[in-house]
Amino acid sequence: MRVHTSAHLMSQAIREVLHEPMEIVSSGIDPEKARLDFTHEGSTRRFFPEIEALANKIVKENRTVKTRLAPRKEAEEYVKRFHESLKTMPPQVTEVRIVEIAGWHACACGGTRVKSTDEIGEIKLLSRRSKGKGIERIEFTVQNP
Ligand SMILES: [Zn+2]
Repeated sequence: MRVHTSAHLMSQAIREVLHEPMEIVSSGIDPEKARLDFTHEGSTRRFFPEIEALANKIVKENRTVKTRLAPRKEAEEYVKRFHESLKTMPPQVTEVRIVEIAGWHACACGGTRVKSTDEIGEIKLLSRRSKGKGIERIEFTVQNP
């Protein structure tokens, strides 16, 4: 749950620091770490301290994480303002579960979550590498809840 919610939080932290409405092309959540693959040209290594600092600032702000169901069209409009889309969702899905970190990020997600960001603990970036074709992969973990 902590790693999963940290991945949502990180999506927006990366966007803010890179000043890019980058697209997340895939993500992976393990019990001990998460990865995000997203569109970006070049290494994000030099941004690590800034991304980490921003992510952990949001953690400490103890923002509420809530879920709700919405009709697909409404959900699509809603998550768009957080640069998210329903692109990967099968077309037959008509009702969408939205997970929102209050005032920070919202996306369609059926997964687990913590109830507020301070439960996440400290987010620590582990590594990055280029996946080629303008796709960057970063890995991170959470410590000390
Ligand atoms: Zn999720």
